[in-house]
Amino acid sequence: MMNSSVIVRLIRLYGIVQGVGFRPFVSRTAALYNITGDVANKGSYVEIHAKGEKEKFEKFLGVLKNDPPPRSMVLKMELLECADFEKEDFSIIESLHEAGDIFVSPDIAVCPECQKEIFDPRDRRYLHPFINCTACGPRLTILDAMPYDRERTSMKEFPMCPECAQEYSTPESRRYDAQPVCCNECGPELYLVGRKERGKDALTLVRRSIMSGKIVAIKGIGGFHLCCDAANDEAVKHLRELKHRPVKPFALMMRDLETARKNCVVPEKAVPLLDGWQKPIVLLKKKADSVLPESIAPGNPAVGIMLPYAPLHLLLFNYDDGVEMSDTLVMTSGNLSGAPICRNDEDALEQISNFCDLILSHDRRIRLRADDSVMDLFEEAPYMIRRSRGFAPLPFRISQKFKGEVLGIGGELKNTFCPARDELFYPSAYLGDLADLRTVKALEESVDRMNSLLEIHPRLVACDLHPRYNSTAVAEKMGLPLIKIQHHYAHIASCMAENDHTDPVIGISFDGTGYGTDGTIWGGEFMKADFSGFTRLGAIAPFRQAGGDASSREGWRIAAALAGAPDDPGTLKLLCDLDLGKSEAEWKFQLRMIEKQLNCVNSTSCGRLFDGVSALLGICTNSTFEGEAAIKLQFAAEKSEKQEEYSISFPFLSCSEDLFHLDTKSLVKDLIFRRLQGESKFDLAWKFHAGLAQLITAGALKCREMTGIGCCALSGGVFQNTLLLKLVKKQLEKHGFNILHHRLVPPNDGGLALGQAVIAMYQLNKKE
Ligand SMILES: [Zn+2]
Ligand SMILES: [Zn+2]
Repeated sequence: MMNSSVIVRLIRLYGIVQGVGFRPFVSRTAALYNITGDVANKGSYVEIHAKGEKEKFEKFLGVLKNDPPPRSMVLKMELLECADFEKEDFSIIESLHEAGDIFVSPDIAVCPECQKEIFDPRDRRYLHPFINCTACGPRLTILDAMPYDRERTSMKEFPMCPECAQEYSTPESRRYDAQPVCCNECGPELYLVGRKERGKDALTLVRRSIMSGKIVAIKGIGGFHLCCDAANDEAVKHLRELKHRPVKPFALMMRDLETARKNCVVPEKAVPLLDGWQKPIVLLKKKADSVLPESIAPGNPAVGIMLPYAPLHLLLFNYDDGVEMSDTLVMTSGNLSGAPICRNDEDALEQISNFCDLILSHDRRIRLRADDSVMDLFEEAPYMIRRSRGFAPLPFRISQKFKGEVLGIGGELKNTFCPARDELFYPSAYLGDLADLRTVKALEESVDRMNSLLEIHPRLVACDLHPRYNSTAVAEKMGLPLIKIQHHYAHIASCMAENDHTDPVIGISFDGTGYGTDGTIWGGEFMKADFSGFTRLGAIAPFRQAGGDASSREGWRIAAALAGAPDDPGTLKLLCDLDLGKSEAEWKFQLRMIEKQLNCVNSTSCGRLFDGVSALLGICTNSTFEGEAAIKLQFAAEKSEKQEEYSISFPFLSCSEDLFHLDTKSLVKDLIFRRLQGESKFDLAWKFHAGLAQLITAGALKCREMTGIGCCALSGGVFQNTLLLKLVKKQLEKHGFNILHHRLVPPNDGGLALGQAVIAMYQLNKKE
């Protein structure tokens, strides 16, 4: 006879619940509230039979839902009726793998308890470079297949010693069921490639070398870093020369939070990001009295900071060898520009051995690469620039009844891909630029591995519309049904998916360049969009992008197209008067190409508009990396002391029969006029941002008038610019728009794959 105040339920928890100590957590919580029953891993979810007194049962549920282990993620909780049972206690059931939704945990930064143990001379794992537990350690990067257990990870080559085996099989232990568990006795070992030093000797030599100004390649969790003392200007400059990377900022690793605070402005809300379990690189403003030399990030007020996340990183800063170590290290991805991060000794020898004096490696294999994630802050919250280690492959869930399996292959730059099953979408770790054939190979391998880990067999593949993208070629080679999706539409779908928004939106896709449905180059687009399709409504004023590939690195070429009619002698004079370091002959030649439409395409790329304006204002005429001119234009604007209202006096839009254009031409003309009048380039950079925000708002209002839609989705690489985002958001809100923007998916091409996958999923379901 069942007591009415006793509740019996079957509970299913979906999310990241494998490999994160979830079952011991459930068991402990059950004990706390006198709940009897059991818990089992079902692959896609954790299943709990629970019985207990009503009030305590509800508290038990509350803890499961609201207070799960920090690196787990409960996406959904189901409460089902179940038959009464009699049990004395609460037990953990070992369960067999079942097919279904599978959640692969991202890698988890070394936890506080392990940090304590590693520096405790009495501990078995004192100074062990691979210490980990149920709550921390590598996951995705060592996984070979599912289900997640040691046999199917890189740790299978390291049989556990008796003590580790004991901890592994004791439910009360911190290492119960921790697949990568190991110690100084049984774990992997450090060594220097091509030298005799191993273990302690290897690490000591590395620390000494770094302090004497040397550069060392260091194998970490998801790949190699190139490392040197960040406080040593000469070492940093030397690394720049070797890498042919004159100004692109280097990421830094700092000893601890205190060091970060000493060198950078760390907003309180950034602390949990910096010091949490994911430990991304966070962009922070450098302090004036920082020890960091200018060469870390030339001309850049911000630096990318991360804290040690692998036990090996902790040991780089603190070891018992008497070496006095720097508090700040450069930790830049170990790769050739555009190529994927090196993940084994062969890669390192082939690609980065010329950049370094030593290569510190170890014998735990990296199965899947995971570059460091990079985030900016917007409204004091994360704003993702590169979503990778610690985040991939956490899924996004869309509240729409989808059924089936698809793959978004991603774009050409900053490639990621996105397998999906039903309503769950799993954006991958970052790979790189597919112009490099090594990245193409990495993409093919990683797609295979991820699909097999997630047991996804795509029935439809989505790729970009661009006919000459290598990503398109990879997708075609798969021999599966394929859909080609317009670049800027995929951006908008990605923003909708991240926000779990399924109703039609006004998509504002401001980006570098993408292939348009009319064969021209797009990148400053307004569209009506939902997952079923899009209609282009407007764009920035088209200009002629002349000079082929060079025009994306050489903003001055765009400047020539923006300055005025190419056959007007006034345009040439104006360009010469602006005194931008280009000769009259160069301007003449460029104007002639534009006039004759040689090597020319029509473009509405907002990224190129930024490049052109950056050049016209004398801020950056040639870029050494993608986005440099735009970033510098933003910094210049932020330096302006007159960040006042700038109301533009020309008509905002021009409309043709089927498309409106933002009057970006008049905006540029006004800026040139003011520049020649002697206005400061900082104030003008500000006016450009403010003016563009007004134009975008006018475009959104026009779209609302045309469609009746009041929700705007902001996406595309241009919205990495948080100043523009702030200005646009403020104005749109003033006009009563509902705004969707990115947070954890990059607005840049790193986010494309998610959008592609969602559109493919919609198409797959429509057909059936
Ligand atoms: Zn731990
Ligand atoms: Zn051991």
